[in-house]
Amino acid sequence: MKEYNLYCTGCSHKESINKNISRCPKCDEPMEVELIKEGKIKYSKDKGQTILERYLDFFPYLDISRKDSLGEGFTPLTNLKSISNNLNLKGLYLKNESQNPTWSFKDRGTLLGILHGKKLGYKKIGTVSTGNMAPSVAAYAAKFKLESYIFVKDTIAEEKLNPILIYNPKLFKVKGDYGSLYYNTLELGEKKDIYFINSDVPLRVEGSKTIAFEICEQLNFEMPDYVIVPTSAGGNIRGIEKGFREFKEVGIINKVPKIICAQSAGCSPIDKVFSENKEKIERFENPSTIAHAIENPLPPSGNQVLRMLKRNGGFTASVEDDEIIDAQKDLAQNGLFLQPASCVPLAALKKLRQEEKIEKYSTVVIIGTGGGLKYTKVFEKYNFNYSQIDLDDIENID
Ligand SMILES: [Zn+2]
Repeated sequence: MKEYNLYCTGCSHKESINKNISRCPKCDEPMEVELIKEGKIKYSKDKGQTILERYLDFFPYLDISRKDSLGEGFTPLTNLKSISNNLNLKGLYLKNESQNPTWSFKDRGTLLGILHGKKLGYKKIGTVSTGNMAPSVAAYAAKFKLESYIFVKDTIAEEKLNPILIYNPKLFKVKGDYGSLYYNTLELGEKKDIYFINSDVPLRVEGSKTIAFEICEQLNFEMPDYVIVPTSAGGNIRGIEKGFREFKEVGIINKVPKIICAQSAGCSPIDKVFSENKEKIERFENPSTIAHAIENPLPPSGNQVLRMLKRNGGFTASVEDDEIIDAQKDLAQNGLFLQPASCVPLAALKKLRQEEKIEKYSTVVIIGTGGGLKYTKVFEKYNFNYSQIDLDDIENID
């Protein structure tokens, strides 16, 4: 089997896959696992098959065992027929990542990160998170009996703390710049022997590939025209794009979809520099958005997302908070409750259809990264009504 290693997305510098290196020692851009050039889907009638077993050829550098899975992946691709019709599309599908063990897509990359960390002999793992990644890393650490170190912003919504603490991690609320915290923890990891599975580390990006693999299978390999991904640090969108590219490379599909990076206007560093035709990410000042899960003012994979979009032919979009809430309402009216960040792709799609940047009769997949119950504070934005009645009156209701 061909050997796969890490290479720098900025300058192509190579490092061994058997090292914990997430940034290039030469140019500080994100490292990535080389493109997989051979592989097949391992079709099976075994109902207990895990995603890593099914796509084993695409992770040849890891020891993969069924007992390590918490049941991540194999999430539904739901047909949003009525919204599709309203927007004059040929097809619209939601990849519903809220159906993962900790209710977000993060579980895919967390498992791969832990397998890599374990292989390298680490006993401690950690992460920096605004929400979804923290419970995911804490949960998998508990399963693997590893110590976990979770760093969160001190402005994190109070309701998000207990769903992390239930897994018994060491949790630190950190005052200070969130963008810098990512880099500080990488240094801390070296000093304290902690394997940090941060947002865009190479193995987390590898985990996100499986979202693309599943979409290909769920659409019977008829590729959508566009895939819209809510984007924060940039790891997930990179992984999804890489997944499609690898399936094309090995001949499973014959075209890749255009990838759209969707952000909240209140924190849209990638959309801003892409629109201004710049090549380097700049810090987004005074970020403020209801889509907290994608609020990163200085995305560590920002430059690579710009390079990737250029190569892929994709583009960016950003939407206001009220458009995000409207999209959340639309999804709820179709029986789906997702967190605000996960509604950004639908809000972006509506805008892009209006501006005709997405042509009519296109087929589109939107990525719903996490479940609605993760952020119930959003209910403050709604005016819900209900009726209080006596038991004797139930026959008199309208
Ligand atoms: Zn480099």
